[in-house]
Amino acid sequence: MKTTRLLASVFVLTALTTGSALFAGPHWLGHDRDRPQPTVVDPGMPSTPEKVGRAPSDAVVLFDGSNLSAWCAMNGEPTKWINHDGALECVPGSGYARTLQSFGECQVHVEFATPNPPHGKSQGRGNSGFFFGMGRYEVQVLDSYENKTYADGSCGSVYNQYPPLVNVSRKPGEWQTYDILWTPPKFGIDGSLKSAARVTVFQNGVVIQNNVVLIGETGWLERAPYKAHPEKLPIALQDHGNPVRYRNIWVRELGAPSKPEFYLPDAVLDSYVGNYGRWKITRDGGNLILATDGGTAVLFAESATHFFSKVVDIQAEFDPANHTIRVSVGEDGGEVVGRK
Ligand code: MG
Repeated sequence: MKTTRLLASVFVLTALTTGSALFAGPHWLGHDRDRPQPTVVDPGMPSTPEKVGRAPSDAVVLFDGSNLSAWCAMNGEPTKWINHDGALECVPGSGYARTLQSFGECQVHVEFATPNPPHGKSQGRGNSGFFFGMGRYEVQVLDSYENKTYADGSCGSVYNQYPPLVNVSRKPGEWQTYDILWTPPKFGIDGSLKSAARVTVFQNGVVIQNNVVLIGETGWLERAPYKAHPEKLPIALQDHGNPVRYRNIWVRELGAPSKPEFYLPDAVLDSYVGNYGRWKITRDGGNLILATDGGTAVLFAESATHFFSKVVDIQAEFDPANHTIRVSVGEDGGEVVGRK
């Protein structure tokens, strides 16, 4: 009897030990009292049809009805979209509006309303789009209330790839919500695809895309394959010729902690290109390339004048007034100023 009890207790102990090895995080014991507490976040307030909500306290607010300072045209010039009674409204023919800031893995909240009374039919009715990756990957925005179109182009579709699981569209003119979890694709240094993009979408609180894996860029008629790009890129809203309105747009960055990144206006990036003594600066999309005898480094914008590398501790500060670049390498690498 004693032996049975002993064996039973050993078995329980073994199970607990095995369990902790199986279920603990990689560096923490089960119930480890030293494990850091989750950050406290004020969850904000959801919107009602009459009253716009408030973003969580740790969100990057992209539009709260007050101004368009987080937005620009795709080339970085001021956007021609308008703030119409606290809503960000597409002006047909004005082009896409994009964020100045770039985002990688993130949670997004956005509210939209298609025009009322509705005009047009199929893809011509209340068409816009919520794009990740600087216009590469579209979650469709469309008036899909009693408006038939091809399934993989209806509201909430990953355009030309996945129809929404259900049609939960509200009537034209009524505010609707998207809550989106976005995982960008990852690429190797050689440009090869390491992992595909994934997206989960809730429309009006109902799941309509459940962690679907994108097969490449979204586009009309063609399914373009992935092409390598930086992990963080601006979010964009589509001008498809309809005055769709948006409000209460915010983003929470997920993934490993990192610096904010910005995709600066084309004119600003181009103004930094040139030879600065031992340094040569060229441009690749929203990045600058720093080249010297020792090799090259891709630079990301942290502000309008400050850039950094993600591979080695290189900091570069431009002084546009004096046409100089100040480059520092590591703590002990010193600083070198080059003049154009
Ligand atoms: Mg669209």
